[in-house]
Amino acid sequence: MIYRFTCIVCPLGCAVEVEVENGKVVEVKGHTCPRGEEWAIQEVINPKRVVMSVVPVEDGALPTVSIKTAEPVPKEKISELMKFLSELRLKAPVKIGETVAEWNGVKIVATRGA
Ligand code: SF4
Repeated sequence: MIYRFTCIVCPLGCAVEVEVENGKVVEVKGHTCPRGEEWAIQEVINPKRVVMSVVPVEDGALPTVSIKTAEPVPKEKISELMKFLSELRLKAPVKIGETVAEWNGVKIVATRGA
């Protein structure tokens, strides 16, 4: 089976093809650099995404603060993560870049202060 993607690692957006046989990657084509090859293989085997959201802040200058995961998480786990985030409540002050929580070993980082 051949999977076709547009690489999202950099703005060049190379059209990448990954050929899989018996559950194993046998060939990657179309990438311009090793980062794209690595991303394309991961996209077939275990796709991951950095997740961004907002969570409520108590006693802050703003009612919510934007957050993101410090690293990409498996796509299949995103709904579980979103449930965790929906129950998360922060208390001001929150500083930009601060780790405000941890989920399954993944740091949740504030991308704005409150
Ligand atoms: S393959 Fe390399 S050059 Fe092409 S979009 Fe991906 S990261 Fe950029």
